[in-house]
Amino acid sequence: MLQRLKLLRTAMNEQSLPAVLIGAASNRRYLSGFTGSAGWLVITQTEALLLTDSRYVIQAGQEAPAFSVRQIVNPGQPLPQRLLEIAGEQGLKQFGFEATHVSVAEHARLAEAVEGQLELVPTEGLVERLREIKDEAELTVMRRAIALTDRVIETVTARLQPDHTERQAAWMIEQAMREGGAEGPAFPIIVAAGPNAALPHHHPGNEPLGANRPVVIDMGARVDGYNADLTRTIVLGEPDERFWTVYNTVLEAQQRAIAGLRPGLLAHEADALARDFIAAAGYGEHFGHGLGHGIGLDVHEGPALRWTQPGGTSAPLQPGMVTSIEPGIYLEGWGGVRIEDLALITPDGCEVLSAAPKLHEKNR
Ligand code: ZN
Ligand code: ZN
Repeated sequence: MLQRLKLLRTAMNEQSLPAVLIGAASNRRYLSGFTGSAGWLVITQTEALLLTDSRYVIQAGQEAPAFSVRQIVNPGQPLPQRLLEIAGEQGLKQFGFEATHVSVAEHARLAEAVEGQLELVPTEGLVERLREIKDEAELTVMRRAIALTDRVIETVTARLQPDHTERQAAWMIEQAMREGGAEGPAFPIIVAAGPNAALPHHHPGNEPLGANRPVVIDMGARVDGYNADLTRTIVLGEPDERFWTVYNTVLEAQQRAIAGLRPGLLAHEADALARDFIAAAGYGEHFGHGLGHGIGLDVHEGPALRWTQPGGTSAPLQPGMVTSIEPGIYLEGWGGVRIEDLALITPDGCEVLSAAPKLHEKNR
């Protein structure tokens, strides 16, 4: 945590921000360790304060030892009054705030209450950019979430039958995750059978999985706040020729991306490693989403591995980033195939963190 605060203070210095107010839950947790649902961090070059209400004061003291906890009381000593107090103590005239997380209404109330005394400066991605690079403590937890996810998909898919519905399969996965020690699923589990598999974010329903057709399963366990994300496409029975053509195209696209990921590669160039191959195979317009996304305390965070506008650019990959690699091909009326693994960018390439088995051409 101290290292994270140090990195944030360096970033604040670069932007000439004397103080920042952090309210987004994942950013708050990342910097302080505090897991409660309400609270604000105030960070200056010398102080680290955690403002929260009476429900969380004890918990905050236990979870965030690097922060001094101050209670917010509504009415009495609400947030704006607390900020003015702190500004007075520290001689501050400006506060950075998270423009992408504070609502327009919230900002208006705050700005009105501190008008003439404090300037609120919008910031974007200050903490999110730090979170893109995982430290050792985070990687240890993520490896556990990923290993559990791998075990769950393997044991549950071995038990699936064609007459199980999508919803039953999703429940079996959720149960196995919780029994394995997960806090819960990282996101609503996707099980999409037959033509439903053409919808990348299908909600599981009463459709049976069926035989001899693709079933896309996208799931991940959440462990100690960190998320895993894995997709496997399976077939109960005998896949047909068309399935293998589509499946092997997606698999090779993924393998090409894995072989090419390395520090310095721009995020949109990473996307192109898989996209160009899928397009050359004639399925370009059937791969409608980006190749991958960063993941950690949030299921979707930076970097975003996706195409840019013509002439556009994106940020380079860096060691310590964890990203999904999830090419897919979706054919309306038939179904779809997506294969997703998580990879850690290393100093000279990437390490695939997911180890769940997948179908290979040799299974034909
Ligand atoms: Zn996924
Ligand atoms: Zn994903």
